[in-house]
Amino acid sequence: MSDGAPLLEVRNLKKYYPLSQGLFKRKAGTVKAVDDVSFTIQPGETFGLVGESGCGKSTIAKSVIRAVEPTDGDVIFHLDRPRNLAKLNREELKVARRHIQLVFQDPFSSLNPRHRVRDIIGEPLKVNNVADGKELEDQVGHLMSSVGLRPEYQVRYPHAFSGGQRQRIGIARALAMHPKLIICDEPVSALDVSVQAQILNLLSDLQSEFGLTYLFVSHDLGVVQHISDRVAVMYVGRLVETGPTRKLFEAPQHPYTAALLSASPKPHPRFRRTQPVLTGEVPDPLSAPSGCHFHPRCPYRQQVCEEEFPPLEPVPDSPGQFVACHFASEIELEGVPAVTPR
Ligand code: SF4
Repeated sequence: MSDGAPLLEVRNLKKYYPLSQGLFKRKAGTVKAVDDVSFTIQPGETFGLVGESGCGKSTIAKSVIRAVEPTDGDVIFHLDRPRNLAKLNREELKVARRHIQLVFQDPFSSLNPRHRVRDIIGEPLKVNNVADGKELEDQVGHLMSSVGLRPEYQVRYPHAFSGGQRQRIGIARALAMHPKLIICDEPVSALDVSVQAQILNLLSDLQSEFGLTYLFVSHDLGVVQHISDRVAVMYVGRLVETGPTRKLFEAPQHPYTAALLSASPKPHPRFRRTQPVLTGEVPDPLSAPSGCHFHPRCPYRQQVCEEEFPPLEPVPDSPGQFVACHFASEIELEGVPAVTPR
């Protein structure tokens, strides 16, 4: 990937769910969970995807690995050659998916309570005929050491571990096949705040050690800010702003981004809230507002906002930052001071 090619390109991804009702299953509408989303992730990068619950961010993560089938669009994964995950047949997809692993939200339900940790972490190695017997034991022990767990604990069952330790087990399992890309879907949201920081630091350390690339999905802006190189903000199935983390937090261009920052429970101590806090609910994607989906909650809306959806366009004088707002250049928004070295 030294030629600057991305590791992952998501192009015009759509995931629609048709709804039917009545005895004759008449079409009642379409839920546009993901609606024409495009982004790229560079090798070694952490790309944060943030938004309120139900905005479609987890559906993107699932669509990338075809845990749900995309309705349209391309997902180009650059291995030895570009492969469009959205179009691969079952066998080809199985091969490509060895290089993409998942870390789930809930470390309690994602580990089989009847299996020993050795079997949980070693499963991908066994299934793919990579190791067995003593070699498997050694590799599992090595993986456990990598995530800060004692190798001799591999004979224990998941219930013998705390929430943070279970998430470490999930991460060790994800590392087993030496993936290029790890999709982390709300990986710390079920954990205590102090443990969250430990897991985030572990993910950062592993990224440096193994050259990993992360797609990091979270509703928590503080978490996303801590770990991401770039961030995309989602609202009702669409991206409304993307950019390098520091720029997006210090100088947000979209009123929704600014409102999320303002509503965040953990802003920087120097931050004084002066802009309106986000009010109202996320709209039902089945009946998403016309034009800019954010207009019913936006204090800056004008007539055109109800009629036309603004495309995602580059922000002048801010390389890498894009925003979908008709009036981004006219609105003055407040960010929060950067608190991470990223
Ligand atoms: Fe607000 Fe209009 Fe911009 Fe949407 S396009 S965020 S409604 S100003």
